[in-house]
Amino acid sequence: MAATTAEIRLPGWLAEMPMPLAPASDEACMRLAIAAARENVARGSGGPFGAAIRLDATGEVIAVGVNLALASGNPVLHAETVAISLAGRRLTDHGGVTLFTSCEPCIMCLGASHWAEIGRIVSSALKEDAEAVGFSEGAGTGQLRVEMEARGVVFQPGLLREEAVSILRDYAERGGEIYGPES
Ligand SMILES: [Zn+2]
Repeated sequence: MAATTAEIRLPGWLAEMPMPLAPASDEACMRLAIAAARENVARGSGGPFGAAIRLDATGEVIAVGVNLALASGNPVLHAETVAISLAGRRLTDHGGVTLFTSCEPCIMCLGASHWAEIGRIVSSALKEDAEAVGFSEGAGTGQLRVEMEARGVVFQPGLLREEAVSILRDYAERGGEIYGPES
């Protein structure tokens, strides 16, 4: 019988993580995304990626996600798609949202950000940092980014880069599974 439901369930520790007080700065939001990524590895609940979404009008963090692809068996549950799914209708609240992610989005997450009409994407580790430890970002991110920039989407990669890179390296050195189509 074909499945009729799918679920996104955050690990218990993530639901209990303290949120930065509103209005949360770019750096506070990125520190939250990076802390979620670090904790996800430390707790063995998934891959080394975290994300947060902030409502820019109020500076409120409305969703936090981590990579749940391995833990859930659902390959689309990257940190960004988890956060976007949880934010749901609030993505279109007045004033727009910023997506903070511990690593530049892969082609799927960039596509999800496009459809979610996210106006600004701030990332920490770069695409090449993820690829250096074996993850694939998928072809076409450059082209989609150009299309999104033409629509006015702002990209700001590299915020607190070294902190996010150290999580990727730790994960690889621990022998963490490198999942994806080319692994
Ligand atoms: Zn992704």
